[in-house]
Amino acid sequence: ELIAAKDKDVARYIVKELEDQRENDLKLIASENFSSIAVQGAMGNLLTDKYSEGFPFHRFYAGCQNVDEIESIACEKAKKLFGAEHAYVQPHSGADANLCAYWAILNSRVQIPTLAEMGVENVSNMSREDWNKVRHALHNQRLLGLDYYSGGHLTHGYRQNISAQLFDAYSYTVDKNTNLLNYDEIRAMANEIKPLILLAGYSAYPRKINFRIMSEIAHSVGAVFMVDMAHFSGLVAGGVLTGDYSPFPWADVVTTTTHKTLRGPRGGMILCKNEFSESVDKGCPLVIGGPLPQVMAAKAICFEEALQDEYKAYAAQIVKNSQALCEAFISEGLTVLTGGSDNHLLLLDVSPFGLNGRMSETLLRECGITLNRNALPFDKNGPWYTSGLRLGTPAVTTLGMKEEEMKEIASIISNVLKNAHPVRLTKGEKAGQLSKNKAKCPPEVMEDARGR
Ligand code: PLP
Repeated sequence: ELIAAKDKDVARYIVKELEDQRENDLKLIASENFSSIAVQGAMGNLLTDKYSEGFPFHRFYAGCQNVDEIESIACEKAKKLFGAEHAYVQPHSGADANLCAYWAILNSRVQIPTLAEMGVENVSNMSREDWNKVRHALHNQRLLGLDYYSGGHLTHGYRQNISAQLFDAYSYTVDKNTNLLNYDEIRAMANEIKPLILLAGYSAYPRKINFRIMSEIAHSVGAVFMVDMAHFSGLVAGGVLTGDYSPFPWADVVTTTTHKTLRGPRGGMILCKNEFSESVDKGCPLVIGGPLPQVMAAKAICFEEALQDEYKAYAAQIVKNSQALCEAFISEGLTVLTGGSDNHLLLLDVSPFGLNGRMSETLLRECGITLNRNALPFDKNGPWYTSGLRLGTPAVTTLGMKEEEMKEIASIISNVLKNAHPVRLTKGEKAGQLSKNKAKCPPEVMEDARGR
């Protein structure tokens, strides 16, 4: 009511989003979940009115005594949950966490001329020439991460992302035959490239990664081993990915989001070895703007929830559901990449149906199923149309669904895809459709819609 009194449409769409997410849509988006009311309550309050640049008990703003406590609690719980040496809970998102981590690693590991060597007393009277020396040293470093088409994230060195401007970026891919990581190839690339950072982690890779082997590769060439566990941090927290398959204790720096499998508020976090803690804590103000105290409070609640036994059962069920979906798709004759899943997500190749990923996504959306189209390894259809779909089980598992429901979901999706008959619109048809539906529908969607 309070919101409606200010703008009734905003209020209406909030309520509609609730209805859509909980009743109308079956959410199979691998990166989404349903956070608890406690998490949402911790986020929607007066903490939003407070600035707190700096880090706990070392702020550039006055009056941060309560935020200091909240942030410290969140950091302590994060350390306990993951067994990490240091935690930084300020990043506003996963992309921010990666940028902060990159900057922290650059500043910790790259030899830049000291002020004394440059003969200047303090940073403010450095000459432009000296600044350029520093910039050159920092910008000449190499990053080796998983290729976007093999499931890596844009921030892992994709050529149009700022990460590829910050670094001289290189990518490893999955194996062309198996679609799996090939550690021998990664080792050979690392030996040749000698990166400053070897990065592991993904947005769309359905299998476990052996972080022990990856850390050996990184350390053998003097690289910092960084893991972006944005997608699977909930599976690490819930004790499903352990030993060689957990980033801890292998990685030097670990980044994550808090809103995917971890089921907390939208946000990011960095966990690292003590060696990097001082640089990481300078994330704000060197990389990101003022932290969001309300979100740090919600992160603390999320970590507490993830420390409970019920969360372990939840994490285990996410993977069981993902595997049940894979089995059901395979028995329906669909192509599941790598033949299965070890985590919360799976990839389907829709090209055998004469469809592309975008058509399939639109089509399934019309049927009340929300999922993402996704580029497959070496995808000829590019990142916009794609040949694949990415499905994830974190959200439906939060709703209490189990293997039986997964079979039903797989059968519905298979039926829809098998019965799709794509047709191309003529120019005239497109124009006719467009004039009728101009306000609602962009031309490509019309084409896809008719394609169904
Ligand atoms: N890292 C990975 C592996 C991701 O999958 C994502 C988001 O999908 C991000 C980082 C970026 O997270 P955010 O959208 O919170 O910036």
